[in-house]
Amino acid sequence: MTQQIYVAGDWVASNASETLDCVDPSTGEAFDKIANGNAQDVDAAVKAARAALPGWRSTPAGERAALLRKVAAAIVDNREDLAALETRDNGKPMAESYIDVDTIAAIFGMYADMADDLATNPEEVVETGGDVMEVTVARVPIGVIGMITPWNFPLEQFTWKVAPALAAGCTAVIKPSEFTSLSSLALARLMGEAGLPAGVLNVVTGTGPRVGEALVMHPGVDKVSFTGSTATGKQIMRGAAEDLKRVSLELGGKNPVIVFDDVDIDAAAEWVTFGAFVNQGQVCTATSRLLVHEAIADKFEARLAEVAANVKIGSGDTDAVKMGPLVSQSQYDKVMGYIETGRSEGARVLTGGGRPDEMDKGYYIAPTIFTDVTADMRVWREEIFGPVLSVMRFADEAEAIQLANDTPYGLAATVLSADEARTERVADALEAGITWQNCNNMVVIQAPWGGVKKSGMGRELGRWGLDAFLEPKQKTRWKAGGGVGWYDMKIA
Ligand code: NAD
Repeated sequence: MTQQIYVAGDWVASNASETLDCVDPSTGEAFDKIANGNAQDVDAAVKAARAALPGWRSTPAGERAALLRKVAAAIVDNREDLAALETRDNGKPMAESYIDVDTIAAIFGMYADMADDLATNPEEVVETGGDVMEVTVARVPIGVIGMITPWNFPLEQFTWKVAPALAAGCTAVIKPSEFTSLSSLALARLMGEAGLPAGVLNVVTGTGPRVGEALVMHPGVDKVSFTGSTATGKQIMRGAAEDLKRVSLELGGKNPVIVFDDVDIDAAAEWVTFGAFVNQGQVCTATSRLLVHEAIADKFEARLAEVAANVKIGSGDTDAVKMGPLVSQSQYDKVMGYIETGRSEGARVLTGGGRPDEMDKGYYIAPTIFTDVTADMRVWREEIFGPVLSVMRFADEAEAIQLANDTPYGLAATVLSADEARTERVADALEAGITWQNCNNMVVIQAPWGGVKKSGMGRELGRWGLDAFLEPKQKTRWKAGGGVGWYDMKIA
């Protein structure tokens, strides 16, 4: 039976008869179906979110916090099922699905604390330097949020948006990726069971052109919070401009990792392969461009090849597996196409380069490293979103920084060196929203996440993630004795 959608607190059949298969990427076989919803579904969901807004917005923030804590507890109680579902739908190793489940429980808890803080500190005082006015700033919920997420971290992306939005007092309609909708539906179910009032959260499944566009264009939506590719992000921004909706965009990346000649080669090779291949390289912050100092390049590449060739690949539920299959046939085809492009551009395959020998089904691609890469090659410039690492060499710090910043993207950047003054200096010079020194691809839930340049606008996580769903509202109170109107006022 086709999964239902969640509208106004009820599980209902979509108005559309079309369905989409949920495919297990380790076998290529369908195991469930979701609705390929339509504009009518979106309209019902947005109306439900609008109807729920006055009640939710005026629910004391402390009560909203209590509900978010119940959701966090329900996630902990359902850890096994959520992780297994995520692995089956997305393909990622179970160890990573467990990390995702544990992280989202922590995120619901963190935003519950921030909702409590909103309750105790609802307004900030602005110092004006005089005594005729008292000025405060309240933080008010933006309203109904349209949320659109990709398929690489479905549980996380749902939570990075839904938890802070609901903490802020907003209501929401979310459209998860059509490739991985099941865990979002499961979380919505847990939230409903935890007592979330009807309409505060609605989930409509389906493709971008059918459901995503209808959500972006709906006049009842106040803000669109989008995570996905830069190409789709541009379309969303154009669509949102029609009603001047607010937008937050978490987009793509082609992130550099710079390795200086003073590193511990074994440790650096671990960080580099982790950053390039974790989650099969389907990570917006994957460090897929390696810049290595020429003095250690031969030795470092040899070590990288060894580490990459030893990464255990298999279905996500296999013991100790580090890489599973890619999410879908289309992503598999896209990444294989890029590997062919790299070869035809003249790059050399150091290791990998296609399907692992022992795998006869599923969307598996071996960790692939290209050397002899030049800065004009497509494998160096374009986001591949798969397990493909391209390597260039540099002679000095200035050249490393120049090559690292020579990209339209600006999401994340990593620098590895034993010299901490240098890592600090280089991190400051890198054009990226997130920098890592002597580590790689750390997700710190208390810190801002997001990019500069064509990697997007706005930030998620931490207090920045909450601010994304609040508008500052100025409240100026005039005091007796301050004069009146025109030129009689004492401004100070
Ligand atoms: P995508 O842009 O193809 O799709 C993302 C979502 O947008 C999906 O739900 C899709 O159905 C929807 N969509 C597609 N076309 C649409 C349209 N015209 N209008 C409205 N919605 C539409 O991206 P993807 O392939 O699912 O995800 C991979 C991309 O996401 C990569 O570029 C990656 O870097 C990016 N990403 C960024 C972050 C971040 O935090 N910056 C995190 C994860 C993924």
